[in-house]
Amino acid sequence: MEVSYEDVAAAHARVRAVAHRTPVLRSATVDALTGASVFFKAENLQRMGAFKFRGAYNALSQLTSAQRKKGVVAFSSGNHAQAVALSGRLLGIPATIVMPTDAPQVKLVATRGYGAEVVSYDASNEDRQKIAEKLAAERGLTVIPPFNHPHILAGQGTAAKELIEETGPLDILLVPCGGGGLLSGCALAARHLSPDCRVIGVEPAEGDDGLRSFRSGRIESIPLPKTIADGARTTALGTLTFALIRANVDDFLTVTDAELLRWMFFLWERMKIVVEPTGTLAAAALLENKLDAKGKRVGVVLSGGNVDLAWAARVMAPGLLRKD
Ligand SMILES: *Cc1c(COP(=O)(O)O)cnc(C)c1O
Repeated sequence: MEVSYEDVAAAHARVRAVAHRTPVLRSATVDALTGASVFFKAENLQRMGAFKFRGAYNALSQLTSAQRKKGVVAFSSGNHAQAVALSGRLLGIPATIVMPTDAPQVKLVATRGYGAEVVSYDASNEDRQKIAEKLAAERGLTVIPPFNHPHILAGQGTAAKELIEETGPLDILLVPCGGGGLLSGCALAARHLSPDCRVIGVEPAEGDDGLRSFRSGRIESIPLPKTIADGARTTALGTLTFALIRANVDDFLTVTDAELLRWMFFLWERMKIVVEPTGTLAAAALLENKLDAKGKRVGVVLSGGNVDLAWAARVMAPGLLRKD
């Protein structure tokens, strides 16, 4: 299915009434470190703590009344689950979320808290997509995929639309990439609103399937990556997100887990904002000087802030934090 900037603009008309218009943050320290003018789009401050609310709400609000009555199902242990659960509650659509039995308690509690029904499965020997599809068939539910869907990615693109409308044209836009919904949507917005802007996807080094696919020209799959960037633990781009990335994205960069940790705590300390590891990908690529940003106007999407504080406290042990 064709997706264009018009779809992002239409998504914005639906989403803006309910989503937060998240702030664009500046940091004199970051500007001094990078020699650039850096604009952070703080989607860690979005409802449910990540940009994923934008796509989920855009998708659910376009269902027919028959589909709404029956309800939706999503499979995710992370932010997409909470986004579908919250959107379902706001729109009065029953939501079922398929989650592994070992999903973090905080995520289970948050998802149930938004009123969703949680169906657990054993991740070691059951396939979550099959379970979701079976539930969908039995109960007549609509499956809401996490990234490879025109309504999802158009909704995610509203984050970059808001950013560029506020900052004016940018030279570079850095966007975290998992399955590529956020990146492909933001690239559509950037192409239209700031045509000369270089759009760069940022992945965890252990999960660089997007970079590989971008280079080879076909979708490359990798085994489930081991990385602290849990929102980007995907094995392949989608057919739709890949096509849009090929058409609208200029390059990819990767960031190691050690680099993510270092700059995640930097953002907490210096900017006083809680960002999760995946949400730090784009900022870490910039702050590690992985691109030439001197004198440039650079947009950075901080994609989410849902981090387990007990986990963070454990990894914050002295010596782990700073490499110099
Ligand atoms: C899902 C997610 C991503 C990746 O988004 P995709 O659309 O799958 O590429 C990045 N950051 C956070 C915080 C996420 O939850």
